[in-house]
Amino acid sequence: MDDLHGKGVNVELKNVSRLFQIGGETFQALADVTLSVPAGEHWSLVGASGSGKSTLLYMMGLLERPSSGEVWIDGQRTDTLKTGERALIRNRRIGFVFQNFQLIPRTTSLENVEMPLLYQKVPFRERQERAKVLLSQVGLSDRENHFPSQLSGGQQQRVAIARALVTSPGIVLADEPTGNLDTASSKDILELLEHLRTIHRFTLILVTHDPLVASRAQRQIRLSDGRIVGGEL
Ligand code: ADP
Ligand code: MG
Repeated sequence: MDDLHGKGVNVELKNVSRLFQIGGETFQALADVTLSVPAGEHWSLVGASGSGKSTLLYMMGLLERPSSGEVWIDGQRTDTLKTGERALIRNRRIGFVFQNFQLIPRTTSLENVEMPLLYQKVPFRERQERAKVLLSQVGLSDRENHFPSQLSGGQQQRVAIARALVTSPGIVLADEPTGNLDTASSKDILELLEHLRTIHRFTLILVTHDPLVASRAQRQIRLSDGRIVGGEL
């Protein structure tokens, strides 16, 4: 079995812009963003709705390409790579946690967590073993065979976190991971993410609306109209 303990990875954006064409008009969702998140750090990303937080996270996670500028992961330029190569880096080095969990329905917790390893063609036994370790680390060993619909929101997000971590990613990107949770579950999920970061040592970038959550990060970046307007850069 591979070492489950990942290592934080550096992510760097150089003059990244993202334009959308909407009905003949050009809209700038990100405008000339430059930043470098050192390996293993925990940053938060704040800003009003529509300020470009998700777009920025998708750039870092290679889910989207910039209209201009460069995206570097662990010293490798990625925006110029072919789609397949980008998918490979995404699968092996990046974990995502979304506001709406994005679990596969009618698929058990264990199968959901195994899924990224299936894409890596990891053999069945090892997939199961690793998925079980992660489910235990998020406190859900007794829910391996439950379906998402049988779990609370907080439990579904725990499954999603286990799935994000099962490949030992160097970077974890979380887009308002507590946005659909009540106060108590939100606190649990954040403490879990922080705890897991101390074990797995991944770089964590967390989008949040909550100033208290944001203040727990080592650095806060504030976006407004697609630009960085604040943060201790
Ligand atoms: P946030 O996550 O901060 O709420 P987003 O990054 O989702 O903001 O969006 C930033 C801006 O870009 C918004 O005005 C949004 O409408 C626009 N936008 C995002 N994705 C698209 C898209 N695929 N097509 C057109 N406009 C988009
Ligand atoms: Mg968003």
